[in-house]
Amino acid sequence: NSISSNSGWKTLKVATDPTFVPFEMKDANGNLEGFDIDLMNAIAQVAGLQVQWESLPFDGMISTLQAKRVDAAINGITITPERQKTISFSRPYFKAGLAIAVRANNQDIQDVNSLKGRKIGVQIGSTGADFAKTIPNAQIITFNSGPDFFQDLQNGNVDAAISDAFATLYAIKTGQLKGIKVVSNLLTEEFYGIATPHNSPYLETINKGIGTLLANGTYEQIYQKWMGT
Ligand code: GLN
Repeated sequence: NSISSNSGWKTLKVATDPTFVPFEMKDANGNLEGFDIDLMNAIAQVAGLQVQWESLPFDGMISTLQAKRVDAAINGITITPERQKTISFSRPYFKAGLAIAVRANNQDIQDVNSLKGRKIGVQIGSTGADFAKTIPNAQIITFNSGPDFFQDLQNGNVDAAISDAFATLYAIKTGQLKGIKVVSNLLTEEFYGIATPHNSPYLETINKGIGTLLANGTYEQIYQKWMGT
């Protein structure tokens, strides 16, 4: 199969934090799966590279790339000008955005204005954490991963969470996240990119790979597999 026939291929070390459904997660046997996992493996396939996955916390992803300890990271990472100062991004591969999540019975938090002065849970190092800092008098509670702060939202330790809408809606839809709803419209428009160190020899290969998968229908197949209803 593919493992043995690809064994002569050059290895691409790719980092991810598999706590971000449905982009990267672990199946019942502990194997990585998700939209990003399929996308990255498919890019590698067309480029004749073999992915060596490394699980790392999201918060350490950028410094790990900067230190060139991995060749790339895929983690639903939003392309931002701030991050582009220290790492490079592929062309965008997914349109995303932040949303507010609250307990299902909450009636007073309807939009971003009603977040003033509230306790807001965010994932450390995320665009949601950056956004929360712009809310007047908000008390920001940071957590190491998405699942952690949702627990605190469920049990009332925070009033709201700000996180990537699609991931939150997916967790609600699949029943992993109970008693939570997403309110209001998207707070931001964001685009995910595959991140590499600056001047990476692989960036062009990755961009070409995304282009090939968009053109030959593989991207659409992967999209339908994970995002389709
Ligand atoms: N898209 C968000 C960010 O880049 C969150 C990504 C994640 O939690 N994996 O900050």
